[in-house]
Amino acid sequence: MSTSSSNKHEQIPIITRIDDMQAAMAIVRRGGKTIGFVPTMGALHEGHLSLVDASAAECDYTVASVFVNPTQFGPGEDFEKYPRDIDADVALLKERGVDMVFAPEVDEMYPENSCTFVELDGIALPLEGKFRPGHFRGVATIVLKLFHAVAPDRAYFGQKDYQQTLVVKRMVTDLLVPVEIRVCPIVREPDGLAMSSRNAYLDKEARQHALVVPKCLLNVEAMIAAGERDVATILVAARAMFDKVPNAKIDYIALVDPDTLAPVEQIHGRTLAAIAAHLGSTRLIDNRIIHPPSKPD
Ligand code: AMP
Repeated sequence: MSTSSSNKHEQIPIITRIDDMQAAMAIVRRGGKTIGFVPTMGALHEGHLSLVDASAAECDYTVASVFVNPTQFGPGEDFEKYPRDIDADVALLKERGVDMVFAPEVDEMYPENSCTFVELDGIALPLEGKFRPGHFRGVATIVLKLFHAVAPDRAYFGQKDYQQTLVVKRMVTDLLVPVEIRVCPIVREPDGLAMSSRNAYLDKEARQHALVVPKCLLNVEAMIAAGERDVATILVAARAMFDKVPNAKIDYIALVDPDTLAPVEQIHGRTLAAIAAHLGSTRLIDNRIIHPPSKPD
């Protein structure tokens, strides 16, 4: 008979209350373990699970949260129809070695009369901030609350939501939150589409059309690799790719400084190419950090 301590057949604890979470984490911390935290909105895929893997590799104890945060959705966005399947999520998290799941209800995170939010400026204003007003206020507020519930040593975010990683890093610096923010690479489908819970909304045709997003980013990269430095020229070519795709509508295609998100006019160094576009009724985002080849001698 095996005496291994594997908990394969045990349930992983699913905590729904903040005070239970804080008490559980205090015990873990007293045991001298480092805590890694992966916040998610569920409908998990390999992108989310790569964050779990990163945490499990670096931390003694990994907590994942599953919470569809209403305050980061704008009016008319997909909060109600956002895919939810907690049982499937918990099964995947267990398989990947998560030690505890935090899955609160909305009124646990936003009790009646709560009226305190994280207000942002600067890095939160362009790109997603412009097209989804209030989005980062909701993101920063929930992330801060989750950090207070879990008090992790490290928290793991995906480059897929690039601007979000900058917003969270800024917030923990500005509000003195003692947590290390780790950013993990974008996980893609074999054909290049960035994994996203929202890909489930795409019908067969729109799924095919959605490939314009990663292809456009690759094309931007190829133009820069071939020596093009003029951003206006690159953007004309990028937009032309979308013009050919039925039911595609660009929110933005941007080439910006990866640290400040300030637009660039000429490519000089490391540049973030970021796209947000609607494919039919599904809004997708994607990005690529481009390193122009150094000038030949
Ligand atoms: P979400 O559930 O969409 O809020 O995402 C939770 C976390 O998973 C965020 O840090 C995302 O950036 C990250 N994530 C989502 N999709 C991917 C992906 N394709 N690759 C890497 N990380 C991802």
